[in-house]
Amino acid sequence: MSGLLMILSGPSGVGKDTVIDAWQEIDPDVVRVVAGTTRFPRPGEKDGVDYHFLSEEEFIQMVEDGGFLEHKEVHGKLYGTPAQSVEELLRAGKTALLKIDVQGALAVMQVRPEVVSVMLVPPSWEELEARIRGRKTETEDQIQVRLGNARWELDQAHLYQHRVVNQKVEVAVSELMRIKEESWQISS
Ligand code: 5GP
Repeated sequence: MSGLLMILSGPSGVGKDTVIDAWQEIDPDVVRVVAGTTRFPRPGEKDGVDYHFLSEEEFIQMVEDGGFLEHKEVHGKLYGTPAQSVEELLRAGKTALLKIDVQGALAVMQVRPEVVSVMLVPPSWEELEARIRGRKTETEDQIQVRLGNARWELDQAHLYQHRVVNQKVEVAVSELMRIKEESWQISS
């Protein structure tokens, strides 16, 4: 039996983590793939849970060994989706969920065309802007960068097979479950 590979992307502030946590709580079949990174852990982050924290040498070795499904550099730090974790989950018949950005998603779509892609979108642009501004931890310049990135990511939504609106978490989760069930039926 082989599992299902799914991508969930969405701009910063749209609520990806909240939705994934709520989804995993009611559907243990869904497992988020833990990415590898060379950046340092933030307070509270755990190795193997939030990320696999790797040295640059370890990361580069893994790239050379073909150990990543996709990888990229963000602000001088490396991030990648470990191919082995994905394969193990799929072999175990699970739904392997990749929480990755648009560029990572496009790279995965190239190498795994069977992937089921979903972009989580806000109910409106105004709502997303309010959520990004609501964090109050960033300067206006940083907010403008986030808003610009969010706008660009949303403009790529048509590249995904599915778009799910995160107005209410429970509704977004049930929509994701419907997409999952439908994709299982098609692939089996
Ligand atoms: P952070 O350091 O804030 O956790 O993440 C920084 C950026 O790296 C975010 O845009 C995040 O989506 C991206 N990222 C995290 N994991 C991966 C991954 O496995 N692959 C790719 N391509 N990007 C990732």
